[in-house]
Amino acid sequence: MPQIVLNLPPSRLNELKTYYYKQLKTPPAHAYFAAKTPACTITAYKSGKVLFQGKSPESEANRWGSTEAVKKEKTKSSVQHAYHPKESLFTSSHIGSDEAGTGDYFGPITVAAAYVRSDQIAELKAIGVKDSKHLTDPQITMLAKKIVEMKIPYSLLRLNNEKYNQWQRKGWSQGKMKALLHHQALDRLLEKMAPEKPEGILIDQFAQPNVYQKHIRSEGFSLQENVYFMTKAESYSIAVAVASIIARSAFVKAMNNLEADIGLPVPKGASSKVDQAAASILRAYGEDKLEQIAKVHFANTQKAKKLM
Ligand code: MN
Repeated sequence: MPQIVLNLPPSRLNELKTYYYKQLKTPPAHAYFAAKTPACTITAYKSGKVLFQGKSPESEANRWGSTEAVKKEKTKSSVQHAYHPKESLFTSSHIGSDEAGTGDYFGPITVAAAYVRSDQIAELKAIGVKDSKHLTDPQITMLAKKIVEMKIPYSLLRLNNEKYNQWQRKGWSQGKMKALLHHQALDRLLEKMAPEKPEGILIDQFAQPNVYQKHIRSEGFSLQENVYFMTKAESYSIAVAVASIIARSAFVKAMNNLEADIGLPVPKGASSKVDQAAASILRAYGEDKLEQIAKVHFANTQKAKKLM
């Protein structure tokens, strides 16, 4: 039911009470007076707070004060909260999406989206699916296998570093890259699942929803239906936890392959150990190699060059 709240000087309350004297009704506890008009119910409090509730509260509220400020405030707060999921989403049949590899100098960014039906949540919890940050790499690999065996529908994207470095030089932020990858992963999964539709889509939040939308709009896309954002979503949603496991396991696999390929250590993260490894790779293969396997704008590149 639409409602408007005005905060008037308490001295004006009698003016209102007189105006509505024919429509006065028994006020609720603690209220100064209440009235009912065809447009709405009016409840006034001694503090000066007046509540207009009903079909068209603005038609009465506008007589007494500007409702513009009130409306503006409402719009703003609805933008901030509109994308936060309701608790019920977590137990519904929904899609979750998450990424891995964004803070790692070597290796691809991987983004996964997964669809979990409500009747699969218990089994996934039982096999140990949870926030991948609380799992070791071997556990993640084992769980990813089980998830695939359960035939959970998912989509997985890997952004190789040649592309990453191109995009980065074009001026794209990692936020923009991630937004586009999440959007595409979701599109692919929705296509795969069709005609079945999820009750909602939950993105593990890495940017404010309006920033995410700005990024995808700049490339001509718009938000799918029923998309929600929240931080630490993998601790609340099994679908996001599944997506985080799939993304992380793909990242781990890519790192293992990379190490096998070049025959040198390829550590995760972006520590000084990574600088050392990058220096060894520079010595053995030259700068072109880093372009293929690393996010070269990270400070690790310059540090590795100094180590040579
Ligand atoms: Mn995440």
